[in-house]
Amino acid sequence: MYLGVDYYPEQWDINMIDEDMERMKDMGVNIIRIGEFAWHLMESTEGQYDFSFFDMVIDKAKKHDFKIMFGTPTATFPAWLAKKHPSILSADELGHIRVFGGRRQYCYNSSIYRDYTKKIVKKLVDNYKDEKSLIAWQIDNEFGHEGSDICYCEQCHLNFQEFLKSKYGEINNLNEAYGTIFWGQTYNDFTEIPTPKPTITTHNPSLRLDFARFRSHSINEYGKMQIDLVNNLKGSHQKVTHNFYGGFFEKAYDQNIMSGSLDFVSYDNYPVWGGLSEPLKPAHIAMTHDYIRGLKNKNYWVVEEIMGAQGHDVIGYLPRPNQAKMWAYQAMAHGCENLLFFRWRGMTRGAEQFCFGIIDHDNENGRKFQEAQSFMKDIINYEDIIKSEIESEVAVIYDYDNIWSWNFQKQSYEFDFTNELVRLYTPFYNLNTNIDVINTNKDFFKYKVLIVPVMQIIDDRLAQRFEEFVEKGGTIVFSFRTGIKDPNNNIYFGDIFPCRVRKIAGIEVKETESLQRDQRIEILGMGSYDGVKGKCEVWRDLVIPKEARALYRYNDKFYKDNACITENEYGKGKVYYIGGGIDTYTLNNISKKIAIDNNIRYTEAPEGLEVYTRDYNKEEWLFINNHTSEEIIFRGKAIEAYGSKIIKRKIV
Ligand SMILES: [Zn+2]
Repeated sequence: MYLGVDYYPEQWDINMIDEDMERMKDMGVNIIRIGEFAWHLMESTEGQYDFSFFDMVIDKAKKHDFKIMFGTPTATFPAWLAKKHPSILSADELGHIRVFGGRRQYCYNSSIYRDYTKKIVKKLVDNYKDEKSLIAWQIDNEFGHEGSDICYCEQCHLNFQEFLKSKYGEINNLNEAYGTIFWGQTYNDFTEIPTPKPTITTHNPSLRLDFARFRSHSINEYGKMQIDLVNNLKGSHQKVTHNFYGGFFEKAYDQNIMSGSLDFVSYDNYPVWGGLSEPLKPAHIAMTHDYIRGLKNKNYWVVEEIMGAQGHDVIGYLPRPNQAKMWAYQAMAHGCENLLFFRWRGMTRGAEQFCFGIIDHDNENGRKFQEAQSFMKDIINYEDIIKSEIESEVAVIYDYDNIWSWNFQKQSYEFDFTNELVRLYTPFYNLNTNIDVINTNKDFFKYKVLIVPVMQIIDDRLAQRFEEFVEKGGTIVFSFRTGIKDPNNNIYFGDIFPCRVRKIAGIEVKETESLQRDQRIEILGMGSYDGVKGKCEVWRDLVIPKEARALYRYNDKFYKDNACITENEYGKGKVYYIGGGIDTYTLNNISKKIAIDNNIRYTEAPEGLEVYTRDYNKEEWLFINNHTSEEIIFRGKAIEAYGSKIIKRKIV
């Protein structure tokens, strides 16, 4: 197991390096990540490559038996390059060029930037391909983060037109797919097509979806170019990775594609960042780990694990004593098998002077050092369990085309895709059952239950796979706005919602409405839920049950006959339709019924206590994490505030 820190020795008096490494060793470190932002140090003037600084760092690291993860430095290019070739700089949606400064402000489609990338990466990897201690290359840093997924420069505009030309061939194919007859937007030639910069009213929805696909394609192509280059040059003992970040559903970047080319996936885990007044909810943090694991359906690394408060210009919530350590245990529970804390020491200068690390600006071994040390010394004892494969019976299914479509047409001011996915994930998380979060292209037939949040784009093929899954005995949970659109982001004509999955859901949706801020519609349970009340927010589909049975209906004058939640038996399986943004209590009850009906393994625990089960060597191991500020008693054991425990489950 690799445990370590992100170390930036170039940012400090180099005379500190020996003492730093001794302290790291004492903490339990056996790997450091270096190099990722140090292009200028490697090529201070064009063509003058010098890796002697990192030669020295690696020599010293080896004396402590540290392994090395080395980052290619392309997330921050040198100033001389920006001055010589300003065309490498990306442009925001108003066409403003992002000037040198900050980071990751290059255009993925700049052929000049690609050429310089190839040169530095080739020199770097060539220099260290035989270095035995260097075991992994990290490509760039957090592709697409902080707005770098978007570029509206002229180069991107031309490439977008080419992208469309290769997709549609003839311009009239695009006109037909987009429905450009509307507002007389018919194009005679691909060179007339704009990028969706701000205009009066709004752009064509098909164009906007294609632009998101193009942005994702641009990042993936640039990343693939680097990955291929490193693979061609590196030593056979060296692996290739990239570090993804949270907030992925908000970006025009499908990481599934790049993950296919990586030896392993890495994640930067920051449950609280910037000005947030409190961390993400435990279920939300858990979901991000399950998503990262789902990219390759394999365990992964965390290469930046939060330890101190973080922020560029504004600092938010300070993780409470043991809370960040608990998040590290939570990561290991969900499939992280090697972990590096960010960062060794908080920097006094530069844009991240408020990104606190293990060591603070006083340079003393404080509370966070003790926490990281105790984590490293403890977790190493569970290596075999942690490296075992995770099996889940429940999967949450997403698709980036669908997410992007929602992101620019929210339909309700209250809509947020991540919230809606977490809304359906949370009840199963509360049951402490293992959940995979995977995209629609993955094989989902091995699961018992599929949770499919707000999947408004469903084509014939996906609908057929869903139908087959249910016919064979699977259970699907859909939520509102399901199946209303085709892959061009257009609404299906001549069909009744939810269109291609209407038959398996056994319902019709003819009218629907967005709900406004603070608008909560009361819903009433029916049948076995008789007398139970719940709430609906964000959206409501006015569901007409056909073959399906209504479980909840709306409690208002005009729509009291419309269902809000339905259940339908189809083939050997079942389909649930959740017609709005339903409260957690109601969803908890329905999810528990689904878990029992499907014989899914779950563990009941007090609220705020996460109990994740790992199977190893025919034994069940419980990774218990207390996400609350109070002690919780679980099966006679006291779990302290933000405490973590790994125990073998007693078979009763
Ligand atoms: Zn560009």
